[in-house]
Parts: sequence; C-alpha cells; structure tokens
Amino acid sequence: MSGLPFKSYASFLRELFPGRKETRKVVLDAGFRCPNLDGTRGTGGCSYCDNRSFSPVAGTRKSVAEQLDEGIARLKAKRPDAGVLAYLQPWSNTYGAPERLRAVYESILADERVDGLAIGTRPDCVDEGVRDLLEELAERKPIVLELGLQSANDRTLARIGRGHTAAEWADARALFRDGTPAKNPRVSLAAHVILGLPGETPEDWKTTARFLAAHPVESVKIHPLHVVKGTRLAEEWERGEFALPTLEEYARGVAEFASILPRSTAVERVSGETPSDMLLAPAWSGDRNAIVRAVLAALEETGRF
Ligand code: SF4
Repeated sequence: MSGLPFKSYASFLRELFPGRKETRKVVLDAGFRCPNLDGTRGTGGCSYCDNRSFSPVAGTRKSVAEQLDEGIARLKAKRPDAGVLAYLQPWSNTYGAPERLRAVYESILADERVDGLAIGTRPDCVDEGVRDLLEELAERKPIVLELGLQSANDRTLARIGRGHTAAEWADARALFRDGTPAKNPRVSLAAHVILGLPGETPEDWKTTARFLAAHPVESVKIHPLHVVKGTRLAEEWERGEFALPTLEEYARGVAEFASILPRSTAVERVSGETPSDMLLAPAWSGDRNAIVRAVLAALEETGRF
C-alpha cells in the first residue's frame, strides 16, 4: 500500500509480473451472481451488500469483450505502459457451471493485452473443480483468487448474513495451500476484511488478523465498514443498533491488524470507495489520504513497523 510501511500491492504485482513496472486492475462483470442472493445459501445477501456501491461495472449489459476494450483504453490513455490485471469484481465469480467458468476465464486470458486475471468470490463457491481449473489456467498467465472473509468471527458472519463460516474460508484456502509448496504458486490468494462490523470491537479485528496470520495469503484488502443506502445494514444503523468506529479508532485497528499479519503479506488497500450518493456513513471513509495519514499516525503511536 503506497505511503504505508506495509508490503505494497504494487510490489506484490511487480513480483507477479516481473516484466512490468506497474500493473493496474481493469474491472469486469461477466454476469455471475451470488448463492447468498439466489436462495442457494440465502436470499437476503450480506447485510451491507449493494454490488453497485463497490463495483462500477456491476450490472452492466456490456459484454466482457466490450468492458475489456473500454477499461484498457481508459487505463492506457493515462498509463500507456501499465500492465493489465483483468478483475472479475462484483458478485461471486466462481459461481457457475464449470464450462461457463472455463469459457469466461479462457476468453479473458486469451486477450493478449491482458497480463493476468483476478477473480473475486466467496469461499463456498470454491471446490476441487474450481481449484483444478484455476491451477491449469495459471500455467498460461498469473491468477489471483480473492476470497471474501470480512471477519473470522462466526458470530459476526451470522449477524451480517454472510452465509458461510470462517472454517469454510480456511477450507477454501487449504484447497490451494495444503501440502505446501502450493501445487501452482501462480494462483495467488487474497482476503477481503471489513473493520467496524456490527457487534465487533478492536479485539475482534485482531482475532481476524491472527486468523489470517495462521492461514496466510499473499495479499489482504482492509476496508472500513460502509453503510450504504437501501441495505439492511443501513436500517440497523438508522435504528441505532450499532456504532461505527471513528477515523482514529479505525486507523488504530488497521495499524494493529497489519502488524499482526506476516511481513510477506501485501496490503492492497485500507480504504474503499462508495459513490457519495449511495453512502450514509462514515463521512470520513471517502478521504483516502486522511485515512493513510491517520494510519501512519497510529503506527507511530503504537511503535509498530
Ligand atoms: S457474497 Fe458478495 S455479492 Fe453475495 S451477498 Fe455478500 S457481498 Fe453481496
């Protein structure tokens, strides 16, 4: 993470793509959906979920090829030499028939402008078949599998309606990592976590960090909880059922969290973007620079790093 004393995502990407000084994500929606919304695991989804709030392409009617053309054109206009990490971002991008997964992934990897593929998904959408497919395709170009965890506390996962447990996340990771060395280290693993979930204290955040230290992955995204209009979480927040951390509390949490992670784990980000017309709170969450400054101050205060 640029500006912070953690292993940066940029350096992780330079290791993954040694021929590239810089690689950027190009976000794609291939039309996959989510078992926590379609009734397979649940119908309500995660309480904080509105895919449009965290992915600019969610729900697009454009084909993957059109999205790639547009996304790569936008990137190259600003950064002509940047490599391209195609990123299947919204919903659960390993949730589908095996032949459809293969067709989508192969079509993206076959594009010679694409250097690698990142795939966001849930742990309960990863099985041996998905693992074997990804390890096979990673022989062609690097693959990053982003597994949503959010919290390692099952009580929290139940409260926010995630529809899976921490043990299921560990099982999904183990498909790629048990019997180290990994069968194919080019399938890099990433975890998503949220600090500030209802009912959690900074001690719970540290529990999640210790869980990730015990089940290490190559990179982690840390987000503050965003309360998005129209979600169940927004109703709970408006009823006063939980309080959000202040910027300083969040920053201290990030400092402690990152200090517990292995030094080899890259921190991709410590902030997220929700369009301002969708965000109810916290007001500080859109100011990435202020978050970085606060995390640096917290690191100094705690003597970490
Ligand atoms: S797993 Fe992702 S897409 Fe599915 S309900 Fe939760 S946040 Fe939404």
